[in-house]
Amino acid sequence: MIAVKDLVKTHPWQRVLVKDMPRLRVLDGINLTVPRGEVAAVIGSSGSGKSTLLRCINGLEPFQAGTIQVDTQQLLPDTSPRSSAASLLALRRNVGMVFQQFNLFPHLNVMDNVTLAPCRAMHWPRAKAEENARRLLDRVGLASKLKAKPEQLSGGEQQRVAIARALAVQPQVILFDEPTSALDPRMSGEVLAVIADLARDGLTMLIVTHDMSFARQVARRVHVMHAGKIIESGSPSEVFTAPIQETTKSLVREFNAK
Ligand code: ADP
Ligand code: MG
Repeated sequence: MIAVKDLVKTHPWQRVLVKDMPRLRVLDGINLTVPRGEVAAVIGSSGSGKSTLLRCINGLEPFQAGTIQVDTQQLLPDTSPRSSAASLLALRRNVGMVFQQFNLFPHLNVMDNVTLAPCRAMHWPRAKAEENARRLLDRVGLASKLKAKPEQLSGGEQQRVAIARALAVQPQVILFDEPTSALDPRMSGEVLAVIADLARDGLTMLIVTHDMSFARQVARRVHVMHAGKIIESGSPSEVFTAPIQETTKSLVREFNAK
């Protein structure tokens, strides 16, 4: 479902400052595949490139080399004349994203947050979009909050709205960027329960997380990022119990100490 090949990304000012200096590549030759229906976790220290990788897969960031394929849509480097606005749009509709800071539209109520993309981008009739939103908000336990504004909700509730919003356009893939880092343990639990429920449904998901017990519970594979590379991949028990790379060992120790 997701196939990332030899992905390289630098930021413009880095290219100006030190041309082609490999250590300044935010993503330095990433290869990653996530089969249809699989849940994969990405772990790695801050600054290792995890968010940038998700943003590239979602078509939010251009990249300089390699390819990204999501289902039938392919993204090419920004230098390629073949990357088209149409395929970018098609890809974004197929990939939902959930951010650490929820990123709900603050001026819209819960229902309008969830119906906005289906109505605007997919031109669904209002009634169909609302019916879909009610079903999704019921699923994430927020059927009674349809008229609430984001500021009237707890962090955990806002994140569950964000998940319903990501699901509203019926994407084949959902990317989560540290979905529970901004939440206290109880609210994290509510959000993780929703994500685990989606995993059982066979949605393809790529989840950046620091929560090892959660990764163990839902992920089939765990990928470890360091300095723009994936340095180790394996099942949760391989990566967390018997890591091979020194960097992974110290990361796992750090997570365990928390
Ligand atoms: P992570 O999510 O793993 O913490 P990020 O993907 O956010 O890491 O960032 C990876 C690296 O890219 C960091 O060194 C960061 O400083 C750099 N970076 C991120 N965004 C930009 C940008 N817009 N311009 C320049 N450098 C950036
Ligand atoms: Mg990040």
